[in-house]
Amino acid sequence: MFEKKHEMLRKLAREFAEKELEPIAADAEKEGAYPKELWQKVAKYGFTGITIPEAYGGCGGDYKSLAIVVEEFCKKDAAASSLIMSNSLSGAPYLYYGTEEQKQKYLRPMVEGKTIGAFALTEPGAGSDSGATQTTCLWDEEQGCYILNGRKCFITMGPICDYAVVFAKSNLEAKGTRGISAFIVEADWEGFSRGKTEEKMGMHASVTSDLVFNNVKVPKENLLGKEGQGFKIAMGILDAGRVTVASQGLGIAAGCLDLAVEYSKERVQFGRPICKLQDVAFKLADMATEVEATRLLVYDVADKLDKKQKVTLQAAMAKYKAGEVCNQVAYKALQIHGGYGYMQDYAIERMTRAARLVSIYEGTSEIQKLVISGNLLK
Ligand SMILES: Cc1cc2nc3c(=O)[nH]c(=O)nc-3n(C[C@H](O)[C@H](O)[C@H](O)COP(=O)(O)OP(=O)(O)OC[C@H]3O[C@@H](n4cnc5c(N)ncnc54)[C@H](O)[C@@H]3O)c2cc1C
Repeated sequence: MFEKKHEMLRKLAREFAEKELEPIAADAEKEGAYPKELWQKVAKYGFTGITIPEAYGGCGGDYKSLAIVVEEFCKKDAAASSLIMSNSLSGAPYLYYGTEEQKQKYLRPMVEGKTIGAFALTEPGAGSDSGATQTTCLWDEEQGCYILNGRKCFITMGPICDYAVVFAKSNLEAKGTRGISAFIVEADWEGFSRGKTEEKMGMHASVTSDLVFNNVKVPKENLLGKEGQGFKIAMGILDAGRVTVASQGLGIAAGCLDLAVEYSKERVQFGRPICKLQDVAFKLADMATEVEATRLLVYDVADKLDKKQKVTLQAAMAKYKAGEVCNQVAYKALQIHGGYGYMQDYAIERMTRAARLVSIYEGTSEIQKLVISGNLLK
């Protein structure tokens, strides 16, 4: 499945994660931000445009390459994968549905590390049920533009984004999800504001906030795709997005396993390293087996995506599995660290808090099970 270029990329991403991410991960978690220079470095290495074609400043790589980089980043610092969101939720709507002009204007600077994008679907009353969107963006004949009103919540990069793809109802008469459209909205437009930066359980350097729209004028050329296509755009992109989140889960699990192996070899109790205790060694064996099973699932889906196969079922399975496995592995890895694992001086504490998110966002584990069982029983 992997070619030489994939192995080279893994080596590059691993070295980057060890040299640039690991040393600052704990500080970034405390500060709730990454240094500006890091964003630029990530772009310079091409990590902001792994899957984006060269025509828009990217590397033209495949999804396996993206999964590799996300896995390697997350082994050291889960929040750092939000630095490369331009390859997934932030960038994909432009890539797949944008006009040439929209791609050059919005996607290219994101890939070049000059701007930050966001993907705004979730609302206070529309989480798992994203079709229940209340935000409206209605055409105003007199003003010759759309008028956007509403509130989106939990938006990754919300506090610092330069623009966002916002999903809103543009037709109040259309049935169900058919009235939803996607719009590109710039942060400095009048009527755009942000909620406070959320104080989250983990992933602090990946910032999150509400986005609020109060009579924001959206020009016609900022409609993304066709009117009424919004839900299709969101769902189509979520398949690939779920593979990225599954890679996050895989990376976190693999990183926790590494930490546990290392610690168990060093920590001595009852006169020998704790890895010599069968209960600890068996925990490590279970963790390694689960990580490997997840890895096979994740890369198989990435490979299928690269072959342009429909992956809705497998992406849901990979996301579900990775979300649950990273939580189980983090739990066991922290247990192996004993009391030290509960202290912020140890990376396992930060990794365990990060793991908790993977089974929640981009579709909870329960929603993935709905997709999987729906496919089984149709
Ligand atoms: C840190 C963070 C970052 C995020 N970033 C973004 C972002 O950038 N853009 C964006 O648009 N959204 C983002 N989200 C939102 C995220 O995708 C939602 O939180 C998620 O989809 C769940 O929605 P909810 O929180 O409203 O939970 P709810 O939908 O209210 O779910 C509550 C519980 O009910 C269960 N449940 C709901 N419906 C069903 C069902 N039909 N069957 C079985 N169980 C069900 C859920 O599984 C869950 O356990 C982010 C969230 C977080 C926490």
